Amino acid sequence: MKFTTQENILNLRATRCEVNIQTLKDNIQIFRNKIDKNCNLCLTVKANAYGHGAIKVANYVESMVDFFAVATVYEGVQLRESGINKPIMLLSAHTRAEVAYICQYNLNPFLSHNSFLDEYNHWAGYYKTKLSLHIKVDTGMSRAGFNTCDVLESAKQIENYDNLHIAGICTHFSSSDDVNAKDVTEKQLNIFNNILEELKVHGIFPKYIHAANSAAVLNYNNSHFNMVRLGIGAYGYSDDKNIKPVMSFKTKITIVKKISKGTPVSYGKTWTAENDTMIAILPVGYADGYKRCFSNNAKVMIDGKACNVIGRVCMDQIAIELSYDFDENCLEKDVILFGDDEYFNAETLAFKANTIVYEILTSISERVPRIFFNANYT
Ligand SMILES: *Cc1c(COP(=O)(O)O)cnc(C)c1O
Repeated sequence: MKFTTQENILNLRATRCEVNIQTLKDNIQIFRNKIDKNCNLCLTVKANAYGHGAIKVANYVESMVDFFAVATVYEGVQLRESGINKPIMLLSAHTRAEVAYICQYNLNPFLSHNSFLDEYNHWAGYYKTKLSLHIKVDTGMSRAGFNTCDVLESAKQIENYDNLHIAGICTHFSSSDDVNAKDVTEKQLNIFNNILEELKVHGIFPKYIHAANSAAVLNYNNSHFNMVRLGIGAYGYSDDKNIKPVMSFKTKITIVKKISKGTPVSYGKTWTAENDTMIAILPVGYADGYKRCFSNNAKVMIDGKACNVIGRVCMDQIAIELSYDFDENCLEKDVILFGDDEYFNAETLAFKANTIVYEILTSISERVPRIFFNANYT
């Protein structure tokens, strides 16, 4: 028998991520309803669609969105090769050597400097296209983007090239999720509006104007302009109570054993049984994205009951204490590492890891198969 069939890779392994495409679609629709009818929606599918599986996610929802956004050229190339036709924006900066592929695959870079304009123009000409660029303005994040004083000059330079086209202008907020930092976001918006005004005075009107991430869609109606860049909200994490997590991370019990009082468990003996007890070993570890900081510090759910992770998280395995009266036949029982409900989800684990939900989701490694539910192409 051949192991490496798609069927086997997806279905045999105990550890997997379940991705509910209907929930994703519902979330996107909820955000759609928050923006103007003429406002474009860009779905951010960088980092494997926040761990959900970028190629599948993008193909399942392509008709519901106007744009996609990725971080790297390779992410964009993979989407194109999978058949995605919608515009793809390239959020992060890239190397000179990648310019040819950006033009070949028709990716639309965010521009933070003009050092590659000759290359863009050359390769756009070579592939007989006009390359769409989005001028990024640094309005206070101090990461990517032109300093405000350089935007006009840069825009004028771009306009001198035959094969380049200023398709959009954009910025990114540092604190749109922080209700105590409204002044920070309002200040960024103010700076951005001034830039738009300055360009207008000089006859430059980029078609797409965008600034909002998920939190800003909710918190700042005046940040929508004519496109929003939706990320984490689509995947189910938002202050809006109607938004539901799309992914659950699951495994199965693969070993059950009794241990006696005083027995230490796992590397470094950081946990010792206080009584005779039963433990289970689960085939998931930090190489799958179940972080080592969950050692002695997280719970899993079995049949709705919480069990503690005991001892160190290893590369490929963890131990849990079967604190309830599971019978010895619990081998192969489903275990939820994080779920898609209100009480036990990726945010629950983020809190334990002293991080944000983005990091938990994007840490789930390539080794974990993504299984798609309610998945119809729309
Ligand atoms: C990732 C990203 C987004 C989406 O942010 P969320 O907080 O996930 O909605 C939007 N814009 C840029 C530039 C990004 O890098």
